[in-house]
Amino acid sequence: MPKRNDLEQKALHYVVGTGYQGVLQSDLWRELGASSREGSRVSIKLEEKGLVRREKELQEGRWTYRLYPKRLPASIETIVDCPCLLCPDNARCDPTTALSPKSCPKLTDWILNLGKPPAPTIAAPEDPSAPAELSIPEDDSVAESLDT
Ligand code: SF4
Repeated sequence: MPKRNDLEQKALHYVVGTGYQGVLQSDLWRELGASSREGSRVSIKLEEKGLVRREKELQEGRWTYRLYPKRLPASIETIVDCPCLLCPDNARCDPTTALSPKSCPKLTDWILNLGKPPAPTIAAPEDPSAPAELSIPEDDSVAESLDT
């Protein structure tokens, strides 16, 4: 049987790898080859340390927990759609001037939508001669993101 600290490290690494989807506690312990009893102890320990969040979930008629990482490693994907990267005002934007990230609606919208699913995009048609399908969201998020 692996030492508890090793198991905690492996469990945390696995949970972080699941990102926003999280992982069912039972699937995690199966993956790590631990017993459910040991797994429950380690999962509670990780929650007490503030490293994971546990949410109750009903799976096939039984209550279990889904574990989510509280922190995710930074990656380029997390900022690739930041409006500042392609902003024509980027060179003039400064927190000490009127054109400031402190009051920028584009940046504020982007921050407020972090972690939400991406806006729908135009799907490429299978038949190149057919018109592209566009799914229209119920809110104006796409239109607003296209505003400059
Ligand atoms: S904070 Fe706003 S104005 Fe400044 S660079 Fe970013 S998008 Fe442009």
